Amino acid sequence: MTLSASQCPKWNDWKWQFAHRIQTADALSQVIPLTEAEKEDINRCLSHFRMAISPYYASLIHPEDPQDPIRMQSVPMIEETFDCSNDLEDPLGEESDSPVPHLVHRYPDRVLLLVTLQCAMYCRHCTRRRAVGEEDRVISEKAFQNALSYIRDHPAIRDVLISGGDPLTMSTIKLEHIISSLRAIPHVEIIRIGTRVPVVLPMRIDDELLTMLKRYQPIWINTHFNHPREITPDSQRACEAIVDAGIPLGNQSVLLKGVNDNVDTMKTLLLKLVKMRVRPYYLYQCDLSRGISHFRTTVDQGIDIMHSLQGNISGYALPRYVIDAPGGGGKIPIVYPYVISKDDKEVVMENYLGKRYRYPQPKPEKA
Ligand SMILES: *Cc1c(COP(=O)(O)O)cnc(C)c1O
Ligand code: SF4
Repeated sequence: MTLSASQCPKWNDWKWQFAHRIQTADALSQVIPLTEAEKEDINRCLSHFRMAISPYYASLIHPEDPQDPIRMQSVPMIEETFDCSNDLEDPLGEESDSPVPHLVHRYPDRVLLLVTLQCAMYCRHCTRRRAVGEEDRVISEKAFQNALSYIRDHPAIRDVLISGGDPLTMSTIKLEHIISSLRAIPHVEIIRIGTRVPVVLPMRIDDELLTMLKRYQPIWINTHFNHPREITPDSQRACEAIVDAGIPLGNQSVLLKGVNDNVDTMKTLLLKLVKMRVRPYYLYQCDLSRGISHFRTTVDQGIDIMHSLQGNISGYALPRYVIDAPGGGGKIPIVYPYVISKDDKEVVMENYLGKRYRYPQPKPEKA
């Protein structure tokens, strides 16, 4: 396998990239040097959770660096096979909030619709690894109609988040069928798509796709950059094309040990995102999916990173740091305690430099 656009005429064809994903240790060893022991480790991991890396994403790996952040997110490490007592099969309790298959209804006004199990690259830290990647499977028409009926029958649902797997790995025609069916429901105001395609398969963001999406506005997209090295001319072009199509683009990162768990890396990432008009949305604390505990940082590290950034860079560049609570509690914002004390008379608080300030409360109104 050759790993550059100049050597491969179909490099910019997303279907070629998808069909040529690297899925075995042998194929990977053509791209980065692997010892026999490393290959054996990878094969052992593959019996737990599959690997697939688009040639584009693989080309970003520094071949000589085992700690390379692109490699850590895409190439299995033996730690994945270690048992950790806190690991959960369904870390976010999505099964119990699922009224019909493929739909998670946890919050009052919005649902998560899982339309496919396939991704362009299987992230080693994936939350939904229990299901994702098991096979390249797309929702059946019957299951989709069933989910659609549920949404139609629940007028409180104003926001449908299409996720998976990665919805943008589906054909434009299939995706249009899903989006147009949702758009036909009057109470569905917002359609959102969660996708890692701009990062791992940026050539997928083409005119055909964007022309289709523009017909069903308002559409919002969230993508998933974790490291500044993922921002390349290709991924930048993809993000800018989405925004130029009038689709607001946000980013959800996961705080990952060894990948982005320090202030400098996070700051560079966030500022580069804003520069290409991508708005940082959430920074997730790594959850308790099986086989990813080696990626977990302490919550204090997350709080410290956010605290170091607050005030030093624009609010536009700051995501909300959240824990998606195990057991189905949903996303809970975790913030540094800026409020030191609070009573009827005043609030005492600390600014980003650690200096204290007082804010007097309004006098209670006379009854
Ligand atoms: C994250 C999530 C959403 C969307 O939440 P927002 O905070 O609106 O982005 C909706 N449903 C489920 C089950 C989720 O996990
Ligand atoms: S793209 Fe998303 S769903 Fe797919 S493997 Fe990565 S984190 Fe999981």
